[in-house]
Amino acid sequence: MFRKILIANRGEIACRIIRTARRMAIATVAVYSDADRNARHAMDADQALAIGPAPARESYLAIPKLIEAAQASGADAVHPGYGFLSENAEFAEACAAAGIVFIGPPASAIRAMGSKAAAKALMEKAGVKLVPGYHGADQSEARLAAAAAEIGYPVLIKASAGGGGKGMRIVAGAEEFSGALAGAKREAQSAFGDDHVLVEKYLERPRHIEIQVFADQHGHCVHLFERDCSIQRRHQKIIEEAPAPGLDAATRAEMGEAAIRAARAVGYVGAGTVEFISADGAFHFMEMNTRLQVEHPVTEMITGLDLVEWQLRIAAGENLPLAQEALHIDGHAMEVRIYAEDPARNFLPAAGRIRHLAEPAPSRHVRIDSGVREGDRIGVHYDPMLAKLIVWDRDREAALAQLRAALASYELVGVHNNLALLRAIAAHPDFAAEIPDTGFIARHPELLAEAPIAPPREILAAAALHVLAARDTALQAQSAASSDPASPWFARNGWRLRDQAPEDVHLASAHGDHAISAFWREEGAYRLVFAGGDTVEARGLWQGARLRLTLDGQETRCSVVETEDALVVLAAAGEFRLHVIAPDAAQAEESAGDGRIVAPIPGHIRSVLVTAGENVARGQALVVMEAMKMEITLTAPFAGRITSIAATIGAMAEEGQALVVIIAEA
Ligand code: ADP
Repeated sequence: MFRKILIANRGEIACRIIRTARRMAIATVAVYSDADRNARHAMDADQALAIGPAPARESYLAIPKLIEAAQASGADAVHPGYGFLSENAEFAEACAAAGIVFIGPPASAIRAMGSKAAAKALMEKAGVKLVPGYHGADQSEARLAAAAAEIGYPVLIKASAGGGGKGMRIVAGAEEFSGALAGAKREAQSAFGDDHVLVEKYLERPRHIEIQVFADQHGHCVHLFERDCSIQRRHQKIIEEAPAPGLDAATRAEMGEAAIRAARAVGYVGAGTVEFISADGAFHFMEMNTRLQVEHPVTEMITGLDLVEWQLRIAAGENLPLAQEALHIDGHAMEVRIYAEDPARNFLPAAGRIRHLAEPAPSRHVRIDSGVREGDRIGVHYDPMLAKLIVWDRDREAALAQLRAALASYELVGVHNNLALLRAIAAHPDFAAEIPDTGFIARHPELLAEAPIAPPREILAAAALHVLAARDTALQAQSAASSDPASPWFARNGWRLRDQAPEDVHLASAHGDHAISAFWREEGAYRLVFAGGDTVEARGLWQGARLRLTLDGQETRCSVVETEDALVVLAAAGEFRLHVIAPDAAQAEESAGDGRIVAPIPGHIRSVLVTAGENVARGQALVVMEAMKMEITLTAPFAGRITSIAATIGAMAEEGQALVVIIAEA
């Protein structure tokens, strides 16, 4: 076995490989770019070497630098992870030339499967079924269009060198073909430096089912069953499960054999995945990925095996640890991928700093493969996947219950992420009841609806208690810092005063303004009076960001996190963003007994709902602003007449700027 391995990767997969290596008493070397100097993987490894600037081309994709790092550290093997150089034949060859073992298949197998078109030709010969299509060398538009007509619309144009759903176009009819072809070629050229495409039948409501295979250097090859990866966005997986729901044993065996034939046809060694697309009960070869997959943990959970350990053993020349007959499926596993992205903005990758991270507790049922920690800055240089949550139980229904529970306690604040979407999918009755297919998310646009409800009372109470506790802390710090007995702070009467006068907490959310008056009761306890008169006795117990909140004797739990621009409350009811309006801003507004309505925070004027000279009632909406992606409605503090309006639709308003002036009715 190896003594020391270098991991030519980053993020969760680097951390995951380090875990297995450590269990096997193999030393680990991490590499990191300038952007990753403090990254978790560099910390987790026994040793870490800098390999260059943030852009991947100059670090994680720079073959000479990686070989140099492997040699300098004395590693005897390199694990490429997934992505980056994991399917790069030149890298495999460069490792071999430097006398370092590449933990992966031979360069020839990577090359054979590297082009979707060439792989299809090879699979056709090996007797593996393909989606009806054209994968020939003639790339003229006339030939490709003729192929499309022959296959029958709709068709899918795919980049032969493709990956990650790039360079793909669905074409509904002949009139769209020319434009779609140009688009696919353009995208393929810029993403892969190769504009070769293939055309195939576009299947309606297909399933993505893939088979995990393993082959050793001694001619043995097995499959470790299937994974269903049909829940996708933009042709990219976000939820995977094993076994595939509703797949019968005969089809499973048939797919397994086809996958083994595919692996054998290219002289495969190591871990590989043969992807099939399945529709109407038939399955067709799509492509083979010559590496470990992101979703390999679901296979580990149902087989009880460690696939990275298998990779290491095979690369070190050992036999396959188990024969086909010794492999069994136990229970059901699901994985969700947690991405730094904004589902509401077409899954645009997001950047930011992780202000708060609370993961569900790991157990026999719950596993977390993460590459990040609280405080980490998420940049734009690399893949936006942050972590994976994997659950296991005896069957799909029980596994889904585990998934819902684990997602409910997964808290991530500071960077846009897809946790709300994952929760919505896990909670959706159709996801529980139907056989998954790749159109699921597109068919259910309601999954992407943002903040559908106004913050309920417990959310506002939690935020208010946070604000009050923060003020308390600030007051105590001032008091502690003051050694002057004559100082008003020294007497600490700052909070004894509260016996008499209420403190105001002014919050704003996407649903409007929320004014709360707090009457101090005792340490951590207040009577809260909401605008409108609703009153509640609130008591809070804090542990970091976590709050045990008791409202009129009823206990709930949530977390409250302060970010640069908002207060985020995470609770069973969902995630709510609130803005705290500073007391002076609130006062300014109040002291506008003169009737000056000011912008509470900087933002754009969305609409002006009144005109000069108009009479308004108390509480009537006057102006709608948009700030921090929220809508804030400014209302009349008292009944009166509008004397002037300084707000113009579309204009930017500064904090404290007067927008409307009202005079009270006599
Ligand atoms: P990439 O290598 O870019 O990930 P794949 O060939 O693996 O591309 O396909 C990615 C996804 O695109 C599949 O999982 C599936 O959802 C969809 N897809 C691929 N081929 C077809 C097809 N013929 N019909 C319908 N959907 C397809």
